[in-house]
Amino acid sequence: MNLKYDVVIVGGGVAGISCAYNCAKKKLRTLLVEKENYLGGDVTGALVVPVMKNNNSNINCDFYNVLVNYAKKFDSQITYSDGNTGWFNPILIKNVFDQMLKNVGADILFESVPVNFKKNENFIEKVNFSFEALSLPIVSKYFVDATGNAELSKLLNCEFWSDTQMTQPPSLRFIVSGVDLESLANFLEEIDSDKNVTTTYRIDSQIHLSTAYTWDTNKKWALAPYFEKAVKEGVLKDTDRAYFQIFTIAGMANSVAFNCPRIQNYDKNNPIESSNAIIEARASIYRIYNFVKNYIPGFENSYISNIAPKIGKRETKRVKCKYDYTINDLLEQKQFDNPALVSDYPVDIHSDKKDGSTLHKVCSYMLPIESLKSKDYENLYIIGKIAGTDFKSQAALRVQSSCMSMGEAVAKDIFQNC
Ligand SMILES: Cc1cc2nc3c(=O)[nH]c(=O)nc-3n(C[C@H](O)[C@H](O)[C@H](O)COP(=O)(O)OP(=O)(O)OC[C@H]3O[C@@H](n4cnc5c(N)ncnc54)[C@H](O)[C@@H]3O)c2cc1C
Repeated sequence: MNLKYDVVIVGGGVAGISCAYNCAKKKLRTLLVEKENYLGGDVTGALVVPVMKNNNSNINCDFYNVLVNYAKKFDSQITYSDGNTGWFNPILIKNVFDQMLKNVGADILFESVPVNFKKNENFIEKVNFSFEALSLPIVSKYFVDATGNAELSKLLNCEFWSDTQMTQPPSLRFIVSGVDLESLANFLEEIDSDKNVTTTYRIDSQIHLSTAYTWDTNKKWALAPYFEKAVKEGVLKDTDRAYFQIFTIAGMANSVAFNCPRIQNYDKNNPIESSNAIIEARASIYRIYNFVKNYIPGFENSYISNIAPKIGKRETKRVKCKYDYTINDLLEQKQFDNPALVSDYPVDIHSDKKDGSTLHKVCSYMLPIESLKSKDYENLYIIGKIAGTDFKSQAALRVQSSCMSMGEAVAKDIFQNC
């Protein structure tokens, strides 16, 4: 078997799916390779919902807009009270991604990873992928690394950024079902009447809501007394309350998605310690669940219905590209001739230390297409959270809407060059 494509995208997270969708729509022979047997990456594997709202002047949003319409048909999308259309269902959306790609004629290769390659100077000629016991040599004009951890670029011996300033903790997200949302919404509206961080929204007969609490002291958290009591009574460990955020889920009545716990002491250079940290995070989920069940109205008859199969890693390897995009470009709102996206999402740096996290609000900024073109290979693009950006600007650019725009911008660039 010798397979030939115009473009091969490795990694089926939102960046890779958007790129594959837009390439195939332009009639390029397109293959999306994914190591799991489902698409969505962090969205479906790490249960990361909703899409963080971007400003209205973003570009390269065709994929996102079509996704919203598809998801609506599959009962897996709602538009929240602030106009955010990206409240998706992280389970049902797997099917949405499949259908979108099949409808535009993209090939998908699940359960495969790149294992070796052939190059001619700074052009990649062929990549071999493993599938079960098979080795699949695949020839393509262009390759795209959308693996969320630069796995293709590692194989290709590309150059990486080395400016990581701190370790941002990953999270292990989970879902609790059987929640009485009426009772929870009433409670939250009562304790957080000035709407410090709580929002509640009634769509027809369905309640949607969101609230948060962290152990950082920079904000007056309405839930603080409940967390403090639970720590005092030994129901929660102090670190369990480092970060707590909940959202209801489109198409899942009476369910709440938890954007926590933060995984403490995850050290990517120490595999056994990291595995112990994941085990401890799963234990933390049980403590957080017991806390909400016993301290927060609405959770009395609830149960844990899902624990994410994958941990959500905010921080990743980042690949050196033709333009080194830095936090100064972002803060100075530097203008570029070929922007891939426009965003105003803040610089969102998570820390596992108390008062160590920062959320720095910024004005509208652009990322140039050159920060998505590999420095080492002429026919390699880098998209998603591994793009050619420094540590701090990645903390703003990694949100899903930006990753999708990167994929779309690269598809346009490939189409122009093909
Ligand atoms: C805990 C957490 C919370 C977040 N919260 C939000 C939020 O609320 N809203 C928001 O908009 N953004 C949020 N983000 C950011 C956002 O979700 C991610 O940055 C974004 O989804 C990353 O998309 P991606 O396509 O770059 O990578 P990924 O989603 O990581 O996708 C990469 C894909 O590549 C596959 N892959 C990996 N290695 C290989 C290989 N060797 N071969 C083939 N395939 C491979 C993986 O299986 C995966 O499917 C959050 C991130 C985290 C981690």
